[in-house]
Amino acid sequence: MNDKSFVLALDQGTTSSRSIVFDREGTMKGIAQMEFPQIYPQPGWVEHDPKEIWYSQFETAKQAIRNAEIDPARIAAIGITNQRETTVLWYKNTGEPVCNAIVWQCRRTADFCSELAKDPALVSMISEKTGLKPDAYFSATKIRWIFDNVPGVRERAEAGEILFGTVDCYLLWQLTGVHATDVTNASRTLLFNIHTMQWDAELLDLFGIPASVLPEVRPSIGYFGTTKVELFGCPIPVTGIAGDQHAALFGQACFAEGDAKNTYGTGCFLMMNTGSRPVPSKNGLVTTVAWSRGDQVTYALEGSVFIGGAVLQWLRDELKIITSAPEADILAAGVDNGGVYFVPAFTGLGAPYWDMYARGTITGLTRGTTRENIIRAALESIVFQTNDLLTAMREDTGVPFSSLKVDGGASRSDIILQLQADLLQAPVDRPVNTETTAQGAAFMAGLGAGLWKDEGEIAAKRRSAKTFAPAMDDASRETLLAGWKQAVGRTLYKG
Ligand code: ADP
Repeated sequence: MNDKSFVLALDQGTTSSRSIVFDREGTMKGIAQMEFPQIYPQPGWVEHDPKEIWYSQFETAKQAIRNAEIDPARIAAIGITNQRETTVLWYKNTGEPVCNAIVWQCRRTADFCSELAKDPALVSMISEKTGLKPDAYFSATKIRWIFDNVPGVRERAEAGEILFGTVDCYLLWQLTGVHATDVTNASRTLLFNIHTMQWDAELLDLFGIPASVLPEVRPSIGYFGTTKVELFGCPIPVTGIAGDQHAALFGQACFAEGDAKNTYGTGCFLMMNTGSRPVPSKNGLVTTVAWSRGDQVTYALEGSVFIGGAVLQWLRDELKIITSAPEADILAAGVDNGGVYFVPAFTGLGAPYWDMYARGTITGLTRGTTRENIIRAALESIVFQTNDLLTAMREDTGVPFSSLKVDGGASRSDIILQLQADLLQAPVDRPVNTETTAQGAAFMAGLGAGLWKDEGEIAAKRRSAKTFAPAMDDASRETLLAGWKQAVGRTLYKG
């Protein structure tokens, strides 16, 4: 049998590159992962070598195909998902990177962004057009920094000799020679108008970026290009691209308006499908493109928690009161929080508070407070912060949650998920396959290649492992929420 019934997902993350082969049923058949070096030239700066990104991604792709024990000719399509916003510039003729990639986490342009943020008219123009804030995360100020700091680059860019891309775009160019990106990645650059779905001349002008460096923007689901034959020994079409959180939303089959997913990792990333409406946020959330297919665009609201599972790493590495994250679950299982609330505002608080000067607090300590109470409060902090985002989303959209789909390392914790369901008063659903990002990229590519016919067919491939039903009485919920609110109040610098 030599039918083309497999999809290869390339999942290019911040610390590692991963590749997974899925079959027609959406089951993983082969996986490979490779870490690559993080480069920290100065405090607060983060870079990647684009060649390491490509090398690790390509090596894992070949290894995943070997692990799946299939002939590459049986791969119907490739899907790409990636760390978002990270910025690569390279020479059109040689493919050589102009310099290291500036990673999304890098804060080198924070001062410039703070300057922009002082002008309310500018902030509202940016937010109106892009759904974003002028923040160093997004690509535009990173491109500008390279133009300002790497000699000769601006001139050569103006001469049309330099290309810009986010990581998806750079990988696509390596794979196929095509200079294109998808709408989700474009929507994280601060240069893309999410209403007209085009690069925006006013924003390009604001950041001093010539249009000649920009990739063509295409729908997330659809044809992007075909791999060079020498790479896999046969041509394979790339038919799906999306940023990591967008792919995870798709992989969780959040296809209807009001469907949401939360990824509980080191930080948490919440995204809600808002259908064909780009919903502006009054609560500091980001409006973004979820994905597009043909001319049909789906939008989303997004919020993130800076310190999610990382709070457990802090208990493990600094306080040394647990030896591993799973141990926290075991120790916290038999106790309540004993009136203790832990607000891990180690790096400030994001939406809906936006207080960069807030710092962590543990409140409600008494002589009777135990180690277990504190561990429990740490686990609960992940839930409370997520609940704050969920509440903000509900306010912004007016749409109640029917359920929350979850993934990420800390979604292994039953304590976290049960409390999330109790606070949300809606079921929380953990899938069998928690590799939802790669799965989403595979689903998109499979749809784009015609392996599956529609979203309904895909939704049936997502299998739930466990659903947590809300079980808490109103009084207990109110008590917990009031305790959290009070603790946050004590954390805020702004008071
Ligand atoms: P990332 O992709 O952000 O690196 P992962 O999705 O791998 O993160 O999740 C890692 C996080 O999950 C860690 O911060 C860790 O504390 C947390 N974690 C792992 N296992 C558990 C568990 N059983 N209970 C609670 N948290 C956990």
